[in-house]
Amino acid sequence: MNPTRRTLLTGLTALFGSLAAGCALPRLWNPCHPRLPDSLAHHPLVTAAWEGIDPAQVWDCHAHIAGIGDSGSGIVLSPQMSSLFHPIQFMQRRFYLNAGCVQETPGRVDQSYVERLRTLIDDLRPGAKMMLFAFDRAHDASGRPLPEQSTFYVPNDYARSLASAYPRHFEWVASIHPARRDALAALEQAKEHGAQAVKWLPPAMGIDPADPVCQPFYQALARLDLPLITHGGEEKAVHGIGKPEFGNPLRLRRALDSGVRTIVAHCASIGTDHDTDHGDQPISSFALFTRMMEHPDHRELLFGDLSAITLRNRDPEVVRTLLKRQEWHGRLLNGTDYPLPGILPLISPAALAQAGLLHETAVPVLKELQTYNALLFDLVLKRQLSAHGARLATRVFETRRFFTRKQS
Ligand SMILES: [Zn+2]
Repeated sequence: MNPTRRTLLTGLTALFGSLAAGCALPRLWNPCHPRLPDSLAHHPLVTAAWEGIDPAQVWDCHAHIAGIGDSGSGIVLSPQMSSLFHPIQFMQRRFYLNAGCVQETPGRVDQSYVERLRTLIDDLRPGAKMMLFAFDRAHDASGRPLPEQSTFYVPNDYARSLASAYPRHFEWVASIHPARRDALAALEQAKEHGAQAVKWLPPAMGIDPADPVCQPFYQALARLDLPLITHGGEEKAVHGIGKPEFGNPLRLRRALDSGVRTIVAHCASIGTDHDTDHGDQPISSFALFTRMMEHPDHRELLFGDLSAITLRNRDPEVVRTLLKRQEWHGRLLNGTDYPLPGILPLISPAALAQAGLLHETAVPVLKELQTYNALLFDLVLKRQLSAHGARLATRVFETRRFFTRKQS
């Protein structure tokens, strides 16, 4: 069993152990309340969260499409996700679908996920949108798709169709494995059809970002001015065929040297990698992200997304650093990693308050907000975070201009 599976298993065992012992536990399932009540919609913390932010610039740059493929969407889940013989993946599926507030009636799952998202976005301010990720299959080095080793597949066509059906709510992000024989054609087509970026999850998809095989893909990304959003640090959400070191931020140098605007998902805020610059010593992935951010050659090209940084499994020191490094704020882009903020036990405002990053009076409001609107919860929480007076700059939430800039 790999360390990730072991950690998850230990976590779940502990969770169910404490359930059995009758301990006070965080609420497990999202009750999926409908529209925000007025008391929350006009709560001073919610009003304060929008202050100084132009909602038309707010694009959530990290959001997942979930479903089971029952709408003709082409989504495919691995059989393990639905099997009680694979309890971790089975529970993950339950949590994701509950966080996305789907109706589990056959034929309604895909659609109800999207309907819930539109309702959540309608409760933000007009103009705010979400960038929905397609999710490519794992492929082998020769570019052959490996459906049986892909946990999860969301076709580009489905992400694109949602953005074109609901332009007020969604933009879309393509996912293309660089070893695919049609990778460059698929990339051109994605750009033509309005994709705002390309998403990779290297450890799950079997992509080594440092492999020379990626070179033509990087050149095309740079030419088309399509940013690459790629997972950094340890991967916990999706099981796959790739090696954990594919998430090492140091492996992104080839992309950067090719001129690709590269966004490290979650700022590599969890996990340990080998410091391949210094004798392969183990070092936190976030320290390697920091090293890459500090390199003067990367100033215009390397960025970090803020999705998942508030999760319980992150070291509060990472959040503190991100708040304090004001000189980075022009290079940080907010994303929610939806549906994760809808999984109630994953984020603990009380723990963040205990770490001195949040005023404790905000905790009950945030907890209530999370059960109504996970997107607004993410915004209010991140706007409330502070470390010795340092807060995230408003521009980290105004990500649209990053994606729609005209290439000079
Ligand atoms: Zn994600």
